[in-house]
Amino acid sequence: MNFTGHIAGGTVTAGALAASALVYGNTFGTNYTIEDSIRIFTVTLFFSLFPDLDVSSIPQRWFFRAIFVLLIILGYTGEYQLATLVAIIAITPVLDHHHGWTHNLYSPILVPFFLILVYDIMLLKNNTMFNTPIYAFNKYLSNYFWFLISAPAGWYTHLFLDSKIPFLNNKRGHL
Ligand SMILES: [Zn+2]
Repeated sequence: MNFTGHIAGGTVTAGALAASALVYGNTFGTNYTIEDSIRIFTVTLFFSLFPDLDVSSIPQRWFFRAIFVLLIILGYTGEYQLATLVAIIAITPVLDHHHGWTHNLYSPILVPFFLILVYDIMLLKNNTMFNTPIYAFNKYLSNYFWFLISAPAGWYTHLFLDSKIPFLNNKRGHL
């Protein structure tokens, strides 16, 4: 699947998730606002494009330009923890060959957990009140629930369109 196809697929999943969060959020005791839905949409769309950043392309170049600007902004505003996380995410696609780990079936589940863990450890270091792992684990599931759903949803949309999911493989082309 090419980049345009992934944008289209990612937008559909992201829109469906963002809308569901607004409509059904209250059912699960979480009040999702428009801002939350925008966050859910952005993260889902981002992760639906993320796997193909492992190959040199025009989207990849724009991605690194955006990261470059974002890192300067985060540095300037003193958001060092977020800046570290963004830098880690930005580097990871190019650590492996094209269609390497970013197109692995388990990455969409494992990587978002890993990112939350890294982010949380950075936060916990500065917060002596909440330094027990058990508390932290509960906190992932409640505070980061939206992230742990949005990121894999977008990512699996990408793998689905690339036909990387074995039982759905119908020989669709990929980048
Ligand atoms: Zn791909």
